[in-house]
Amino acid sequence: MPLIILSGLPTSGKSTRAKQLYDYLAERLAIGSPQSTPSATAPTYRLHLISDDALSISRAVYDLSALPAHTRSANASEKDARAAIYGAVKRVLSPRDIVVLDGLNYIKGWRYQLACEAKNFRTPSVVLQIGCSVDQARAVNEERLQRLAGDGADKTDGAEAYPEAYSVANWDNLVFRYEEPNPMTRWDSPLFALTWDDDEAQTRAVFDKLWEAMAGEGRKEVRPNQ
Ligand code: ADP
Repeated sequence: MPLIILSGLPTSGKSTRAKQLYDYLAERLAIGSPQSTPSATAPTYRLHLISDDALSISRAVYDLSALPAHTRSANASEKDARAAIYGAVKRVLSPRDIVVLDGLNYIKGWRYQLACEAKNFRTPSVVLQIGCSVDQARAVNEERLQRLAGDGADKTDGAEAYPEAYSVANWDNLVFRYEEPNPMTRWDSPLFALTWDDDEAQTRAVFDKLWEAMAGEGRKEVRPNQ
């Protein structure tokens, strides 16, 4: 079963959608409640949600603003973070595992690498892009920064109580660096999208299409040489 790669601007609502998708998949796979048993036709799959937060990766690893320009491409902390995410995905990816990868996933070469990894496991990969206006996403980050600043000197407590915020320079730079998924490329397809304003019905309709592409009759068989 596939790797579902979320992608979107910082603070655009990715984790919110990732959790909704996880709950949707759990319900579809009938593993949500201890009483329910998988239907006769549904094979038993394991479901995983991998995110920066779950791997304790700080938003600061994406911050290039403190680095001299000539060393930016070699930002070690971001490379280490990607290695940790890659390892976590590889550990669980298999034809019997569904992996929801919540994160920025903003570099096309990185999405390519993940799609290749899925193919190695003979399982499809799909991309779910979370669309959100830059202004809306910025407002979320600014609100988080203000809340953390409001906690006074003890930022540790604040960071635990609220999701971590990006520094303004880090956030701006990530928006600038964001490489939009392109459905014309193999690694970004099939591509699904949800926007901030999509209501429950629309969200479910997109999840249904995503399910159909990865597990339904429309699922493409993955061959290593494809
Ligand atoms: P990201 O994972 O991209 O950083 P989050 O999912 O943590 O973003 O969302 C940031 C904030 O915006 C959260 O407070 C969340 O409750 C809110 N939010 C996210 N998506 C929506 C939405 N579609 N409609 C309204 N509020 C949302």
